[in-house]
Amino acid sequence: MPKKRKQKIRVGWFTFSCCEDSTIIFTELLNDHWKEWKELFDFRHARVLKKNNVLDELDIAFIEGAVASPEHEKMAKEIRKVSKKVVAIGACAVQGMPSAQRNFFDEKQKEEIEFLISRFKALPKVLKLSDVVKVDVEVPGCPMNPEDFLRKVNLLVKEFV
Ligand code: SF4
Repeated sequence: MPKKRKQKIRVGWFTFSCCEDSTIIFTELLNDHWKEWKELFDFRHARVLKKNNVLDELDIAFIEGAVASPEHEKMAKEIRKVSKKVVAIGACAVQGMPSAQRNFFDEKQKEEIEFLISRFKALPKVLKLSDVVKVDVEVPGCPMNPEDFLRKVNLLVKEFV
């Protein structure tokens, strides 16, 4: 019988500006891995999975999406402060695009969206996660590549066992 871990690995799953397709991939992976992950992970903060979420101390924080507002910026910094490892999930978090399309708008397009930028109190430019906080691991892809995600999660898990 496998030895019981003293403490589960505390994880969080966070979503900023994006279409959340990597979150869907993550929940699909849960179908296959929930038994093993239930023993391994304490999902402290994952709005997609539960209502009551805590942002206290995390071993691994997974962040999907680009940073598009000062609120995202603040949240990213808070997550970084309480997390041992931060993982950027999907192309939007890793490189900003495609969520950062408005960064490449011409002057006329920029004028057209000005009222939206101000209504949603958005940043003048959409940022990739590493523009705001230190990122330890990247899982690129649009959406993220599930095999790459699993490989990197398994490597991270080894650091905590
Ligand atoms: S990387 Fe692609 S799939 Fe992921 S949030 Fe961005 S647009 Fe959506």
